[in-house]
Amino acid sequence: MNNLLKMNYIVSIIGRPNVGKSTLFNRLVGRRKAVVHVTSGVTRDRIYGDSEWNGVQFSIIDTGGFSILTNDILEKEVKNQIFVAIEESDVILFLIDIKIGILDADREISKILRKCKKIILLVVNKVDNGNSIINSDTDFFRLGFERYYYISAINGSGTGELLDKLIEIFKQELLKKKEKLLKNELIPRFSIVGRPNVGKSTLINSFLNKNHHIVTNISGTTRDSLDVFYKKKYKCILIDTPGVRKKSKIIDNIEFYSTVRTFKTIEYADICFLMIDADRGWEKQDMNIFQFLKKNHKGIIILVNKWDLFHDKNISTQKDYEFFIRKKIYPFYNVPIFFISAKNKDGMHNILPMAYQVLRYRNNRLKTNILNKIMLPILEKNPPIPKKKNKFITIKYCIQLPSYSPKFIFFSNFPQYIKESYKRFVENKIRSHFDFIGVPIQIFFRKK
Ligand code: GDP
Ligand code: GDP
Repeated sequence: MNNLLKMNYIVSIIGRPNVGKSTLFNRLVGRRKAVVHVTSGVTRDRIYGDSEWNGVQFSIIDTGGFSILTNDILEKEVKNQIFVAIEESDVILFLIDIKIGILDADREISKILRKCKKIILLVVNKVDNGNSIINSDTDFFRLGFERYYYISAINGSGTGELLDKLIEIFKQELLKKKEKLLKNELIPRFSIVGRPNVGKSTLINSFLNKNHHIVTNISGTTRDSLDVFYKKKYKCILIDTPGVRKKSKIIDNIEFYSTVRTFKTIEYADICFLMIDADRGWEKQDMNIFQFLKKNHKGIIILVNKWDLFHDKNISTQKDYEFFIRKKIYPFYNVPIFFISAKNKDGMHNILPMAYQVLRYRNNRLKTNILNKIMLPILEKNPPIPKKKNKFITIKYCIQLPSYSPKFIFFSNFPQYIKESYKRFVENKIRSHFDFIGVPIQIFFRKK
């Protein structure tokens, strides 16, 4: 149940005008504030709100702004909006009006909905009392939906049952998602992280060869779509970072959301592609994401994107650029760095082979005798300068633990007096003698 609470499901209400979408929306969202939101590229308003039932939270979209031409034919644009709503939702409530019955517009919408793979609940509204069912003709059975619910959005009857059903569906979806994760356990997972607008979606599209990517603009939503992607021997799951919050007017703290989203995205990733914008350079926020990935033991590859726009893109500026980043991320200096244009698909061909390489490096297990043979003479020559005087610190022995990501233990007579800076020195030496390219390593000093 805990996981369920954290998931943010999206339910949208679809239907022709006047069936009661806004009324239902207001009932479900209650006194919570609804957010009117103008979606980019879409002229009409859509309204988002949050709802909660039995402790489970979800978001609702009211597609109430859709208008339909007089003779009940759906405008092309209206259809497009329905497609977007479908794409964004986990569950769709298709609302019809029992008092009026089925109109052509209802049939047209149901035709679109039947083709989509989302879960659809047919909701028969304005059933203010039992008599309305008896008195209505039951044309709506013929729309071809399995599950239908009778409600009255105005007086609330039937909505409890509808909400129970939604929660049940969310639980089932969560189970399916877990199964999917398990099934794909052996396929490596790569995710693309970075600040808003650096080109993450563009890169995904370039990898997948898609030319569009529907993004959601709903605050705090975390729909993690998992795309399995086959490219010759580089089979992988590309974990998408959903949502491009920059376009949203309702978010004032973009960096906050971007961090939350990064966290969500990297959870299941083996390797993260940290993308930055060439023109903006390596900024503080990029450093924060980098540290965050490192702390979570993710393999890291840095992608400097929009290189096509960079003012002075010759080999020597590229070298300087790279040098600058490596200095910033020292002692984890040996992270692969690629200069690419996700838009033009330039410089991308080595990313996946390198990601596979980093996966192998992460599984490097150094033999104790080799590790000691190389490291001990170096450490003997450069012993730690103690925090306290009159202590002569020695390091006698080291091992690599058989852990998921590389961890090293150095045994010393006075581990408590070893300074942080010495740890960086040791990391640097390990990196320069062994292959841990793109792999975070941890170093501990322990009492012999
Ligand atoms: P929308 O255009 O689909 O958003 O529809 P609205 O929510 O604006 O509702 C259209 C009309 O139907 C309004 O006059 C509502 O008061 C009315 N209405 C909505 N739900 C119910 C209901 O359950 N029973 C009855 N009798 N009227 C309803
Ligand atoms: P995201 O927020 O990180 O997912 O960024 P998007 O993929 O939405 O890209 C943001 C903007 O940068 C879009 O207008 C893209 O067309 C543009 N863009 C992305 N990659 C490149 C690139 O390599 N070169 C150029 N010139 N523009 C790019």
